[in-house]
Amino acid sequence: MTDEHGPGRVTAGFREVYGTEPGGVWAAPGRVNLIGEHTDYNDGFVMPLALPHTCLAAASPRADGVLRLHSGDAPGGVVELRVEELSPVAGGAGGGDRGGWAAYPAGVVWALREAGLLTGREGGAELHFESTVPTGAGLSSSAALEVVTATALNDLYGLGLTPPRIAQLCQRAENAFVGVPCGIMDQMASACCTEGHALFLDARDLTQRQVPFDLAAAGLRLLVVDTRVKHELGDGAYASRRAACEAAARALGVPALRDVPFEGLDATLAQLERLGHDTATRRRVRHVVTEDRRVEEVIARLDAGDTRSIGPVLTAGHASCRDDFEISCDELDLVVETATAAGALGSRMTGGGFGGSAIVLVAEADAEAVSKAVTEAFAAAGHRAPRIFPAVPSAGARRL
Ligand code: ADP
Ligand code: MG
Repeated sequence: MTDEHGPGRVTAGFREVYGTEPGGVWAAPGRVNLIGEHTDYNDGFVMPLALPHTCLAAASPRADGVLRLHSGDAPGGVVELRVEELSPVAGGAGGGDRGGWAAYPAGVVWALREAGLLTGREGGAELHFESTVPTGAGLSSSAALEVVTATALNDLYGLGLTPPRIAQLCQRAENAFVGVPCGIMDQMASACCTEGHALFLDARDLTQRQVPFDLAAAGLRLLVVDTRVKHELGDGAYASRRAACEAAARALGVPALRDVPFEGLDATLAQLERLGHDTATRRRVRHVVTEDRRVEEVIARLDAGDTRSIGPVLTAGHASCRDDFEISCDELDLVVETATAAGALGSRMTGGGFGGSAIVLVAEADAEAVSKAVTEAFAAAGHRAPRIFPAVPSAGARRL
């Protein structure tokens, strides 16, 4: 990482805003998900990797219970709050970031206070953020912002939190304070990923395994294609998909769809039909159950050292997101169709859907031609030019 976006710049930013030296600088990355979409809130499997793009925070503690937040990436000045007074309502929560960007870090401080880790009277802080994670692109800029906040406070206050615990508190902040019903994947990815690996995570008990993911050794590249669109229906659709999954699990008498065995899937779908569930619900279930299976398949192939062969599994995952879970959109479908037609090994949407980003697995030698084909297809369709860059599996949250 150059110092353009490094400790020097964010320290200078802190100095300018607060007039003092920060107590330290922390980083937390954005992520792409290799496979396992909408499985985390079904207690299933996911496999994200951290991007080199990070949210940096320069921070100092305050002993007077005042929280001061500033972002070099958001308009407006310093947001000043009292830790003691933070509450989901006072924070302007409910429905994404309508309460303003500061709801994300403020929510983290609230979650730490709620967990009895910070006292409202004394546990304050000053934070200044600068991020290279594109926002709203499905690459988890929000989780990076949360996790860098929690990691900084963990160190400044000696809280002794492990990365998974940090992830859980950040998820609570996003769910209960910001008002976004997200699963645990994004925060776990930002907190726990390691360089050169994908993170195999069981979202039920948070057991994890770092799976070596050496693209260069395999002569491959994983491209991220940021479509730069975010369709409005995304937020409501996320909540309704989640509700449909939970209703189906209840009807089937299992704790979560993760407990529906892949082998018995046809019988389960027939059972749901008998119970009066519509075809849409049955397709949602089929996506979740087959997607968990695809995560296991990708891991088996990576463990066998056959990285190339995960390509068709990724593309099958896209078809399932598009047809069964119905969370894709024209732009994402166009990336996948164009990339695979132009010689990519596999491609799929990544993240919540309805815009955001897709990933493309491609032989190094074909990367340029595939990128060009996607860019041209977007121009021909009248879409804004996509942003394309390689995903290099990078480190999780850390002090710099
Ligand atoms: P994603 O997490 O996919 O990027 P979200 O909609 O979940 O998209 O989160 C994006 C929001 O997170 C932004 O609208 C903004 O409120 C907040 N955010 C992320 N990074 C920053 C930052 N560096 N400074 C201020 N706000 C940020
Ligand atoms: Mg987010």
